[in-house]
Amino acid sequence: MDKNKNVIVIKYGGNAMLDDELTSELLKNVVELFNYGLKIIIVHGGGPFIKKNLELAGIKSEFVEGHRITDGNSMRFVEMALKGEVNGNLVRLINNLGARAVGLSGKDGKLATAEKRFHYNEHKETIDLGQVGDVKNISPEIIIQLLNNNFLPVITSIATGDDGLDYNINADIFAGHLAGEIKADKFIMLTDVDGLMEDVENPETLITELPIEKIDGLKNKIIKGGMIPKTDACKIALKKGAKTAVIINGTKPGLLLKAAKDNNQLCGTNFIK
Ligand code: ADP
Ligand code: MG
Repeated sequence: MDKNKNVIVIKYGGNAMLDDELTSELLKNVVELFNYGLKIIIVHGGGPFIKKNLELAGIKSEFVEGHRITDGNSMRFVEMALKGEVNGNLVRLINNLGARAVGLSGKDGKLATAEKRFHYNEHKETIDLGQVGDVKNISPEIIIQLLNNNFLPVITSIATGDDGLDYNINADIFAGHLAGEIKADKFIMLTDVDGLMEDVENPETLITELPIEKIDGLKNKIIKGGMIPKTDACKIALKKGAKTAVIINGTKPGLLLKAAKDNNQLCGTNFIK
């Protein structure tokens, strides 16, 4: 890969896409970075869009401890929502802003393979969540080809397993594996809060630096809910070879530019290896 250009993997969450104006501001920043000469990869989620599409289809999901059971029929609608709707919209918006986006899932070019993920409940019993997976393998050749030819890959975190089934993979975790595998200069996770806070209600308790070996000890104490896969993703990325990993507030215009261009330690939560 062209060593003179920094590679930046951006994880963009579904909750941050609900507001059209904020989405447009954010994508303008993304295209500005692209035009500035950085190699940008977007990995996106889309929880709220999955929920809406399953409701529209009249599919009643079963939940275990907050995890949706995804059977084969639900998975069809998950893919329609993520790849059809969210990915298609991001590609169109980015192209309209002047960059050249290419929409992919993990299936394209065999970028990723999946393996089934089991959930363990509080009694340590194994719960089968259906077609919910983890990353088994990443082969980033397709992404490297696209970056070297000045395209901007936009990736949905769905991949196929060895059993031939499609799996929905948590987008944070998918992005962490990809950022690590391609040894990204920066792994930037955008979310709807300033970063990891000691007290979610109090932004003044923002943790600006966190060594990755401290993550496990903070789980279910400080690190809860959506922050669990995010912090795990930063750990995976740094361990596999990403140079930096940070969680920042994607709803604050301009922060992405700052995080991507400077080595500013004050943007959000920086993870240290
Ligand atoms: P995304 O769509 O960006 O993946 P999530 O809702 O999955 O967003 O994760 C972000 C959420 O994690 C925050 O909005 C917050 O409610 C929650 N959260 C849990 N623990 C913390 C914490 N210690 N600091 C900050 N946010 C936290
Ligand atoms: Mg999330």
